Amino acid sequence: MKFNTKVIHGGQEYDKAYGAVMPPIYQTSTYAQTTPGGHKGYEYSRTHNPTRNALENAFSSIENGHYGLAFGSGLAAIDAIIKLLKPGDEVVSTNDLYGGSFRLFTKIFERFGIKFHFIGMQSVSNIKAYVNDNTKLIWVETPTNPMMNIIDIKAASAIAKKHNILLAVDNTFATPYLQKPLDLGADIVMHSATKYLGGHSDVVMGALVVKDKSLADRLYFIQNASGAICGPQDSFLVLRGIKTLHVRMQRHCENGKAIAKFLANHPKIENVYWPGFEAHPNHIIAKNQMTDFGGMISFTTKGNNYEEAIKIIENLKVFTLAESLGGVESLCGHPASMTHASIPKEEREKTGVVDSLIRLSVGIEDIDDLVADLKQALK
Ligand SMILES: *Cc1c(COP(=O)(O)O)cnc(C)c1O
Repeated sequence: MKFNTKVIHGGQEYDKAYGAVMPPIYQTSTYAQTTPGGHKGYEYSRTHNPTRNALENAFSSIENGHYGLAFGSGLAAIDAIIKLLKPGDEVVSTNDLYGGSFRLFTKIFERFGIKFHFIGMQSVSNIKAYVNDNTKLIWVETPTNPMMNIIDIKAASAIAKKHNILLAVDNTFATPYLQKPLDLGADIVMHSATKYLGGHSDVVMGALVVKDKSLADRLYFIQNASGAICGPQDSFLVLRGIKTLHVRMQRHCENGKAIAKFLANHPKIENVYWPGFEAHPNHIIAKNQMTDFGGMISFTTKGNNYEEAIKIIENLKVFTLAESLGGVESLCGHPASMTHASIPKEEREKTGVVDSLIRLSVGIEDIDDLVADLKQALK
């Protein structure tokens, strides 16, 4: 089955009771048993729920995995991965990383004796210097947020395999429409399904997909034992979202490309960060491991003026100022005062998060309206 068919049918079967085409929302915590242990495969909804299972099968199908797991948020999914580790274990992670992942690693798991190394991975060979006998996991996010750096998943996987370390990839920005980490050698693919998979800014959810049975069993154990699951209603919403992932992504990419080009030619703009440009430092890797370049774009203005950036954001009318990304509607954000505000100015500027940096999540509205909105806001 090809991807555009998988998003609609992958892992799905029609409802056995009445033939419902969409899986019913099984809003139940428990399931009747005829005799102790006499049930139809479902005992308690923390462990299993038919609506969640349908979604987990869809996750697995679209990422070319064998096992899917749904969680109450993207961070709950990451939390489950780190719980595979024990005190003394070490993780090599990207440095330009989702702020919530950084907070979870440093403020929660470091207290439990797990050590994290945050390093630049644009040159993947950097990883080798941080690998020792205690290293158990390589954590990769690509493209990165908000600088849109690209990390070579295949090369990272070669290092992981050589040292018998797990490789996990946060695939939230790319989605399996653009990039399939398991095909490139990753062991675990993770999503904030809140973003493109859900796609309509109406649900918070996380996902994991793996190929290996024993790894899946350990993660299912953690999912059930720790209990950070999602409800049947949210499962239904994300399952519905996935059915249009391919058409939404196609438009996100088309609109993203048009806006990246518009910004690059605008006299007030200094830098545009988008992996589709040939001048992007990791463009060749992006071209090799992604099928297109997505709708996430960051840019800076000439003179790098904080107040001017705020003014541009306030002037935007179709682009809404908000956290999050990946929904049908266009959003904008100001990393220096929002997601990265807690990082000291000198620190954040080292990775490129300067005062005038604006991040766009380009939606699927009419491109003419989006360009016109940016044009008037930049005046
Ligand atoms: C949003 C996000 C997360 C966290 O997911 P939640 O659903 O908000 O918990 C993790 N990684 C990336 C890249 C994200 O954008």
